Amino acid sequence: GKPRALNAAHFSTNERSPHAECNLVLLGCRGAGKSALTVKFLTRRFISEYDPYLEDTYTTEEVVDQQPVLVRVMDTADQDGPVNPERYLSWANAFLVVYSIDNKKSFEGCLQYLEIISQYNKGAVHESPVLLIGNKLDMERYRQVSKADGSALASRHGCLFREVSACLDFRLVQQVFHDAIHEVRRD
Ligand code: GDP
Ligand code: MG
Repeated sequence: GKPRALNAAHFSTNERSPHAECNLVLLGCRGAGKSALTVKFLTRRFISEYDPYLEDTYTTEEVVDQQPVLVRVMDTADQDGPVNPERYLSWANAFLVVYSIDNKKSFEGCLQYLEIISQYNKGAVHESPVLLIGNKLDMERYRQVSKADGSALASRHGCLFREVSACLDFRLVQQVFHDAIHEVRRD
């Protein structure tokens, strides 16, 4: 079945263990594979057809670096660039900005998200880590965005950079989410 939805308002920060909970948000163009990555992380399965209009938040209990953490994942569904970023900017502990390596437009679409996050981070007490993610690595033959371009954009914005595929090895997808949590804890 579908991973269960969750209302973030039901939770509050625990002062004694501030990183026992971690909120992650996936951003990027429609079609980049945000939902496929989210579902893969939550269920280990690749679901090829996912409602492109569905935006939801899911929870999962993970163990990262030998420590348990309640992870919430917001799978956003902007149709045409960033709208209402307030809904995730202060909520998220880390940002995963996703493009598809076989689609140059999706890469260019990341710029606006990276700008919005940079602006937000400048005014924030704690900078929230950002990961730039090139998805659909299985589409190597149709690649339109070089690894060097992805890596260069990430370093310009002080992000980590990863390439993955929602339809290949689960562990690589899981690692990306765990990397995000690891970065949040490092802060
Ligand atoms: P979203 O709009 O960012 O949530 O994108 P979706 O997760 O709905 O994926 C858009 C399309 O790309 C769907 O047809 C997916 O099956 C496909 N897709 C997602 N991830 C991958 C991937 O890693 N490899 C390939 N080949 N297709 C993918
Ligand atoms: Mg989606």
